[in-house]
Amino acid sequence: MALTGIQIFKLLPQTNCKECGFPTCLAFAMQLASGKAELDACPYVSDEAREKLAEASAPPILPVQIGKGVRKRTIGGETVLYRHEKTFFNQTAIAVKVGSDIAEDELKKKLTTWNAFQFERVGYIMRPELVAVEDTNGDKDAFAKVAKTIADTSEFNLILISENVDVMKAGVEACAYKSPLIYAATDKTVDDYGNLAKEYDLSLAVKADSIENLTPLTDKLSGMGLKRLVIDPGSRELRQAFQDQVAIRRAALKAGNRSLGYPTIAFPCEMADNLDVESMIAATFIAKYGAIIVMSDFTTESLFPLLLERLNIYTDPQRPMTMEEGIYEIGKPNENSPVMITTNFALTYFVVSGEIESSKVPTWLLVKDTEGLSVLTAWAAGKFAGDDVGMFINKSGIKDKLSHSEVIIPGYAAAIVGEMEEELPGWTVTVGPREAAHIPAFLKAR
Ligand code: SF4
Repeated sequence: MALTGIQIFKLLPQTNCKECGFPTCLAFAMQLASGKAELDACPYVSDEAREKLAEASAPPILPVQIGKGVRKRTIGGETVLYRHEKTFFNQTAIAVKVGSDIAEDELKKKLTTWNAFQFERVGYIMRPELVAVEDTNGDKDAFAKVAKTIADTSEFNLILISENVDVMKAGVEACAYKSPLIYAATDKTVDDYGNLAKEYDLSLAVKADSIENLTPLTDKLSGMGLKRLVIDPGSRELRQAFQDQVAIRRAALKAGNRSLGYPTIAFPCEMADNLDVESMIAATFIAKYGAIIVMSDFTTESLFPLLLERLNIYTDPQRPMTMEEGIYEIGKPNENSPVMITTNFALTYFVVSGEIESSKVPTWLLVKDTEGLSVLTAWAAGKFAGDDVGMFINKSGIKDKLSHSEVIIPGYAAAIVGEMEEELPGWTVTVGPREAAHIPAFLKAR
């Protein structure tokens, strides 16, 4: 269970030396309790206190890393039941399953297709992360070969699924360098799989036929020093599986049950007989509380909505999505191209840049940091004032790219023209359309 600020304070040196950046040890303790400070900021904590505090301050659901490279993921590490309480931190990893009897050509074809499923949205690249190889016939060489092909020829990371220890060992040896997830230790294989995970320093999934039966397995593995566990309560019927996900999250967060304080894995691929239903089930587990979901296939129309749902659910509800301040090239603008300016609210940027794109007029788009506010709100809040915008244009370096000195501002910010002209002598400030939808006609008519 998490410690209170007072309990933490009792473990601190209580010298009020201020080296942590806080005026007193009590102030530091309060910040630590609310997760706003790091223990390392105090250089004088004793080893004993550090151990107690580290254990108490560990998240109720431990974070687990899987894989390497651009598609590596941390799952778990969550601290709240509901997103609006704070935020969800680590996005659900999305996997697709193949059998170990798949033909090499077919596997390569699928990997090429799945690899191409990458979508840009509000500045993020959305893509699936994992391929799960399932042992279908106990042939360890075939299992290892498929695992190796995925590891060597694609960016995907792996889940290795087998109940056979020898098959699993062969698979692990083939792709250990990619840090695959071993699935899964059961009451029969817990020792062997625990030792394998330890030997190769890998994350390990644990499967039982109920939540109650998971606890002795995770306790045993935790006693072996394994903390990177992923749990599967075994339910494959939607209602029960959903209830299990909620019960596990509640047990970890509300009851402080460390035995269940691990991310979960769910298998929509085993809960439906067509991809549409499977996708709806997957959407349920992205919302609550699957840390990994395993699908039977990916298609654009099944995957994109899941990636988008995941992106939305795992954004911080207290912070608007923003773009980085700077100069963006839409099309291939040159020194004669028009210059437009907008705010760094991500949706504003995407609507404006989309309309510029559809106009087919190459344009420089300046994005000013307004702390994620849209144009009208930013202007009303004084974050898109004329002098500010003028200063931003001056320091942006856009002038060096142009043979003209004209900037087009959003119609909703027409009131800042005068101030801008004062700040930008020699520039022409043109008022553009109020609505982004009118940008194409505006640009084409110039
Ligand atoms: Fe207290 Fe440590 Fe901060 Fe000094 S650095 S005030 S001892 S918490």
